[in-house]
Amino acid sequence: MSGLFDLTGRVALVTGSSRGIGNALARGLADAGATVVLNGINTERLKDAESAMAADFGPGRIHSCAFDVTSDTEAARGVAWVEENVGPLEILVNNAGIQHRVPMLDLDVKDWERVITTDLTSAFLVGREAARHMIPRGRGKIINICSVQTDLARPTIAPYVAAKGGLRNLTRAMTAEWAASGLQINGIAPGYIHTEMTQNLVDDPDFNSWILGRTPAHRWGTVADLAGPAVWLASEASNFVNGQTIFVDGGMTVVV
Ligand code: NDP
Repeated sequence: MSGLFDLTGRVALVTGSSRGIGNALARGLADAGATVVLNGINTERLKDAESAMAADFGPGRIHSCAFDVTSDTEAARGVAWVEENVGPLEILVNNAGIQHRVPMLDLDVKDWERVITTDLTSAFLVGREAARHMIPRGRGKIINICSVQTDLARPTIAPYVAAKGGLRNLTRAMTAEWAASGLQINGIAPGYIHTEMTQNLVDDPDFNSWILGRTPAHRWGTVADLAGPAVWLASEASNFVNGQTIFVDGGMTVVV
């Protein structure tokens, strides 16, 4: 590992990392040397993910802490657990997210709030808790997992589009308040990535051919496509990158 991207000894918390994109990001950070704390709410899935990663990277560097990112008190408990049991938190990836597909005219306010809370408020809650520890130390990296829906809107996912647009701007707001204290806060906006969240779209032949036509790289993204950008943003190599959102989308957002 080149020194520029070396994360040896750094403690990273990746929310929603029991599977999918979060798990691939956790693996990328561990591969670069970081000590990683996995998170989710399904404790069985989380423990399985921890065992699988511990087998690959060694048990000392892989931990897990189950907590619900939508809760103020749970976010505080989770970050405190990392600080007390693993070490000073230096890298936070706000990745946990959900999607709910329903046309807006049929959308219940409870479902609207559930998506906004999980995909946007959570980054404020866990980010604020992390920053309370990082700011006195004068260093820390926060990476918010946005989406191409920060800039584009698809029908039937209004709260997701609103939350991810908000998350891109929350990344800027965190930068405005915390960059002077030595924190770098940036976003990664993935294009369409094959995970459990998108399995129904992968299985839909019409959507599948639409996505291939709409993406200049002419393929779905894989979770592995996101690890490199996350390692870069977590490392010293990106120390003067502040408040940006990096689109990792096969070119989807630059063509019409
Ligand atoms: P998955 O559904 O595969 O995984 C979601 C993860 O989030 C799981 O580990 C889940 O844990 C966790 N999670 C959900 N709710 C909570 C919660 N309240 N507290 C803690 N953890 C929670 O999703 P993806 O991997 O596809 O997506 C990950 C992120 O990437 C999301 O923010 C998503 O919006 C974003 N994204 C995804 C894209 C895609 O094409 N897949 C494209 C662009 C962005 P558990 O199993 O315990 O519920």
